[in-house]
Amino acid sequence: MKVLLAVLAVGLASLHAKAESPVSTVTPAMTATAHQLLDLARQGNQGYELVRSLTTEVGPRLAGTEAEARARYWAVEKLQALGLQNVHVEPFQVPVWLRGVELAEIVSPFPQSLTIAALGGSSSTGEQGLEAEVVVFNSLSALQQAPRMQVEGKIVFIDEVMARSRDGSGYGSAVQKRRETAYVSQKMGAVAALIRSVGTSSHRFAHAGQMRQANTGGDLGVPTAALAAPDADQLTRALGYGKPVTVKLVITPQLLPRAVSGNVIGEIVGREAPQEIVLVGAHLDSWDLGTGAVDDGAGIGVVLGAAKLIIDQLPQGPRRTIRVVLFGAEEVGTVGAKAYALEHSAELPDHIIATESDFGAGDIWRFDSRINEQKVLQLAAIAKVLEPLGIASGNNTARGGPDLKYLREAGVPIVSLLQDGQDYFDFHHTADDTFDKIAPHALDQNVAAYAVFLYLVAETTADFRETTQDLTNIN
Ligand SMILES: [Zn+2]
Repeated sequence: MKVLLAVLAVGLASLHAKAESPVSTVTPAMTATAHQLLDLARQGNQGYELVRSLTTEVGPRLAGTEAEARARYWAVEKLQALGLQNVHVEPFQVPVWLRGVELAEIVSPFPQSLTIAALGGSSSTGEQGLEAEVVVFNSLSALQQAPRMQVEGKIVFIDEVMARSRDGSGYGSAVQKRRETAYVSQKMGAVAALIRSVGTSSHRFAHAGQMRQANTGGDLGVPTAALAAPDADQLTRALGYGKPVTVKLVITPQLLPRAVSGNVIGEIVGREAPQEIVLVGAHLDSWDLGTGAVDDGAGIGVVLGAAKLIIDQLPQGPRRTIRVVLFGAEEVGTVGAKAYALEHSAELPDHIIATESDFGAGDIWRFDSRINEQKVLQLAAIAKVLEPLGIASGNNTARGGPDLKYLREAGVPIVSLLQDGQDYFDFHHTADDTFDKIAPHALDQNVAAYAVFLYLVAETTADFRETTQDLTNIN
């Protein structure tokens, strides 16, 4: 009888342990510490000042340029000053594309200039430029379906409007024309291409952005630029008169030999499980037109602000290592992300979870994940602590930031702290992406959320990986 009772007790205990496991992800002591971090972050923190410092002292920082190198020096100095450990740069090579002259004008029937920005990776028209009749399409697929004779010898113009949304979901489809138009137009015999900017602003700023990288040895695509939205409207109105519209285009970007870029890394080394890594990222490079404040100075400020809070305010560091990765060369095709995944491939199985801040400076409103379905409840216990910040639980199909692509594909669990992106694509990749667009209180909320999330996920013993056979639960 005694034995039976003992067995029964063990059985009950293990049942109880299983039922309790989601809650035990976060102990009452951890919750108390998290609330302290949250209150401190909301009182104001260094995130905002860090964005000010980066965007003022470095300014624009195009991948592979001297300016991006200065951003790395800035980052190394800041990471060390904030008290991170193992601070270092992991260099890699990146193709360098530099903007040149850019002029566009309607020559006839209504002569006037147009506001443009050459797309990253675009070929040059030469200094003399070129002049041709414009043919308009309302989407990339409409161009693809057009007969070649309609396009040959002309300047292709794609006037497709991007939808505004809180989660930025309009970007995915809109960005296809930025990636492909130069190549599709070339195949169809066009001489150049213009696209309506991939953005939501009605102001007279053209949105830059990378085309798909040309295939090695492949065609470079025709010279291609983005029109500011009001200029796209104007060109469409001019075409509406039913007469041929001729445009002159001069863009002289240069494609230079590969140069050095790099990821800047620093850690809060874990006190008990230093080999277990919680990765938090943002990207250091920016487009050249603005000062890269919302994209992605804000992310740099959020991530470093959160690291500083954890270092300064916790009596002891968390169990696991928090690794801060400031990626280089994101804008030109997530080159730094790929370099990181290659450099750390052996370590990826020890990456407990990864997250990135790269969606501007709006409030965080939702917590999405991409983890083992069986572990969703464990993560929910962490998400619950973020509720006072106005952050709701979302779904388990997060994609994470762009720099997490290779980690996600390698099976690293991902969390997205989704920001309100209603106005993100008003400024994204434009000359108007400057420090004044950042609201300090929103940045404070972001820092609070990241600090709390990073602390809890680095302090818990919970694991979130997809496993075919979870041997740890067998007992
Ligand atoms: Zn970005």
